[in-house]
Amino acid sequence: MYLKEIIINGFKSFPEKTVIKINSEFTAVVGPNGSGKSNISDAFKWVMGEQSAKTLRGTKMEDVIFAGTERRKPLGYAEVNLVFDNSDKRLPIEYQEVCVTRRLFRTGESEYLLNKTSTRLKEIRELFMNTGIGIDGYSIIGQGRVEDIVGTKSETRRKVIEEAAGIVKFKTRKEESIRK
Ligand code: ATP
Ligand code: MG
Repeated sequence: MYLKEIIINGFKSFPEKTVIKINSEFTAVVGPNGSGKSNISDAFKWVMGEQSAKTLRGTKMEDVIFAGTERRKPLGYAEVNLVFDNSDKRLPIEYQEVCVTRRLFRTGESEYLLNKTSTRLKEIRELFMNTGIGIDGYSIIGQGRVEDIVGTKSETRRKVIEEAAGIVKFKTRKEESIRK
């Protein structure tokens, strides 16, 4: 299972539908300062359920919607699709290809879709649990994250290892059932 494509439409500095193909083992994103490189990883985190506008480098969630430039009007909504190749069935779902979508309208309405069908973030989180993909997963190693792994705080390091070992799903279910 791997991320095959990121399709961005109206998110941050991408007012037009932009397809980013990730079809090699190693993909590098290069470009001048301010050209939108980090916006691509923001787009990924956003679809995986990032709820903090600050983590996405904004002040409110609406800031992820294309805000307009001198020549272009602001847009009314942002949409990002992540397309995963699931031919190895690592994701416990019958599809060869899995498309996860998040949409946000300026009116505040928002939605998540799984293969074009409306779903909840909870379902998406469950689907990707134990894969390392997700906002808490080890697939995105940000600057602070390196410190979590090599640093001295054993609790944060433990969380990273637990996700990699594939037991987070069961821990979450246990916590949920205790709460009920
Ligand atoms: P660096 O090399 O400095 O890290 P970068 O390529 O990572 O740069 P980003 O931080 O991804 O650049 O992109 C910043 C650009 O995105 C800025 O020009 C900013 O104006 C633009 N931007 C961010 N949010 C929006 C928005 N909602 N609407 C329009 N443009 C936006
Ligand atoms: Mg950057």
